[in-house]
Amino acid sequence: MAKIFCVANQKGGVGKTTTSVNLSAGLAKLNQRVLLVDLDPQGNATMGAGINKAGLEASTYEVMLGESDVKTARQRSEAGRFDVLPSNRELAGAEVEMVELDNRERRLKDALAEVDADYDFILIDCPPALSMLTLNGLCAAHGVIIPMQCEYYALEGLSDLVNTIKKVHANLNQELKIIGLLRVMFDPRMTLSQQVSAQLEQHFGDKVFKTIIPRNVRLAEAPSYGVPGVTFDPSSKGAQAYIAFGAEMVERIKHM
Ligand code: ADP
Ligand code: MG
Repeated sequence: MAKIFCVANQKGGVGKTTTSVNLSAGLAKLNQRVLLVDLDPQGNATMGAGINKAGLEASTYEVMLGESDVKTARQRSEAGRFDVLPSNRELAGAEVEMVELDNRERRLKDALAEVDADYDFILIDCPPALSMLTLNGLCAAHGVIIPMQCEYYALEGLSDLVNTIKKVHANLNQELKIIGLLRVMFDPRMTLSQQVSAQLEQHFGDKVFKTIIPRNVRLAEAPSYGVPGVTFDPSSKGAQAYIAFGAEMVERIKHM
């Protein structure tokens, strides 16, 4: 039975997609069977995994509307050695079209049930909004991974996300928990980064992952080659950090 995690933060550019793609590749290196669900119409996770988002025959969009299923729509990322449920801008339409459907916040959960036995981990790359798509991710998941930059405004907006997660937990998905805050794009030379990082540990205790992802140019370069950073330059600091994060997640799910 797969453990399902949303990578969520309603801010854009905070490292959700980089985390989704590289954690998938890191877990695959640790011999975990992984499905990466691209739940963002921007399709960045799809491209970052080396799958062309143009002209997909079936995607997250068709799956959520019940016009296809995960087994048909999933594709293999050869570069990352994991499976991908790909998406593209069509998915933006699902937001509106789902309004008419029954059980609209559980479309993704129901679709993933079909492939539950095929994976150890299912990771969901959420869009930068607390939208119906993100709600579907939160309803499908056992836990949420929240990537954060250690900067002055990092905590702003975190309370909205935490409140949304609490509401989903109370009304729609009792299994949902915040697994942890992941410090990303970390620059240890900046005093401010150190300070915000220490504050996070103080406030959130063991909800802060031990692994810290450094700012690393190889992680930023990799998507333009359609290869996860972990595969692109396995010895880089960024790749090593995501592999370590994979090991931390493997350890976490033993206690779930
Ligand atoms: P989101 O999915 O939250 O919008 P992305 O993962 O797309 O964020 O990251 C935003 C930008 O920051 C991208 O250009 C990405 O390549 C870059 N980036 C993310 N993480 C790192 C990192 N650890 N080091 C360097 N660049 C990073
Ligand atoms: Mg993204």
